[in-house]
Amino acid sequence: MTLLIALAITFGSATAQDKLYHNTFNLNQVELLDGPFKHAMDLNTKVLLEYDTDRLLAPFLKEAGLPKKAEYFPNWAGLDGHVGGHYVSALAIHYAATGNKECYDRLVYMIDELERCQIANGNGYIGGVPNSKQLWENLKKGDFGLFRGAWVPWYNVHKMYAGLRDAWQYAGIEKAKDMFIKFCDWGLDIISGLDDNQMEQMTGTEFGGMNEIFADAYQITGDRKYIEAAKRFRHKDIFENMADGRDNLDNKHANTQVPKAVGYARVAALDNDARAKQAAEFFWDRVANHRSVVIGGNSRSEHFPAASDYKSYVEHREGPESCNTNNMLKLTEFLFAMDPKAEYADFYEKAMYNHILSTQHPEHGGYVYFTPLRPAHYRVYSAVNQGMWCCVGTGMENHGKYGEFIYTHDGAQELRVNLFVASRLNWTENKVTITQETQFPYSESSKLTINLKKARKFRLLVRCPEWTTSGYSVKVNGQEYAAGVCSRCTAIIICSHRAQVEERRCG
Ligand SMILES: [Zn+2]
Repeated sequence: MTLLIALAITFGSATAQDKLYHNTFNLNQVELLDGPFKHAMDLNTKVLLEYDTDRLLAPFLKEAGLPKKAEYFPNWAGLDGHVGGHYVSALAIHYAATGNKECYDRLVYMIDELERCQIANGNGYIGGVPNSKQLWENLKKGDFGLFRGAWVPWYNVHKMYAGLRDAWQYAGIEKAKDMFIKFCDWGLDIISGLDDNQMEQMTGTEFGGMNEIFADAYQITGDRKYIEAAKRFRHKDIFENMADGRDNLDNKHANTQVPKAVGYARVAALDNDARAKQAAEFFWDRVANHRSVVIGGNSRSEHFPAASDYKSYVEHREGPESCNTNNMLKLTEFLFAMDPKAEYADFYEKAMYNHILSTQHPEHGGYVYFTPLRPAHYRVYSAVNQGMWCCVGTGMENHGKYGEFIYTHDGAQELRVNLFVASRLNWTENKVTITQETQFPYSESSKLTINLKKARKFRLLVRCPEWTTSGYSVKVNGQEYAAGVCSRCTAIIICSHRAQVEERRCG
């Protein structure tokens, strides 16, 4: 397969997303243009607005002792509140990506209601976990009875932590940040009573990305108590093995493990922790290169099969789970932010096009839980206000984030084009607009039109994909690249597959 990149160079305000992720653009700086990703995002915006906010909020009001305004959703009872947390994230992401005002209004309503819950709880807590008060009080004392009998309580509340962070980060709602930090302080108080052995027992149960959350709180506040908490949530059984380069993932529940590695990557980046980096990188390599199937997804019946058992993928009706790939993309973004290797972007492309995009029904917008690899098998899609599966939660978020990784930057000096998706980047900090026109994967070319408001110089790095087997060529203003000398930019094309790096400069 070949890929032609054509560049045309002509002359001619953002919210807070980069507060945490310094190499990304705000979603409102990247406009998706017509194509499958814009279709998916627009459809998902419509679907999100069909959900009943008061029903999603009911578990939080109940646990705060406040009267509910609507009935709970009966599906996935016991994990009450998890989809509410994802929904807050999804509204924030879709508002940032599309500017849709109803997404914003709903988000403000949700945050106001959740603030009422936090005030009524009186201790910073905002959760829908059934029997919250008693369960968490007991856990703090080291009594694991109710915790073990409940459905993954930390996993559940992690979704609301992420929702509050995202309401601040993507949609700029300052109050949500304060609520997030108070909620983190509640979490610190709960684990303050537990010794290291008890932490290890507790983190043996799925806990979502609680280590990532505390790393975020550290980045926001600079207070080391949060990064220490992130490290306490590492779950040594996975962390130590991964950091030592031992794959102990056979037959383990897959999506329990991926978010742990997301947290390791964040701790590595924020605390310069080499061992955490090693653990995150080794985990990524094992899952992306040894435990994923052709669509970039992983798991069979939610578990990593033993290395000797991969044939069973073809027979099994429960193939790769959507949540796992949602989290693998996060892990990939965070590793790429530390080491922008094309290998990471190759995986991202594969999993985003072939798995994530396919997990939405193209007409009614329902979400997929499992993507079976069984030949000619069916898939099951969720219905609005009925299915409350984990993959409905991550599904709500996925289709608003397509603009997040197409372009990344390293300050004003360097722009990377990681993905070939029809889009327009408004690089406000550099007063540059870049329009990418492509039908990829239906055609094998992409045209980038770079509009500079005034002369400036930056490096443009266009990924040379792993799948280009017979050629990769670049034209600048219609000329073969070597002849395309331009006095206003320096372009370095990185032929970035694996260790092979090719640099060519103009200007
Ligand atoms: Zn799931």
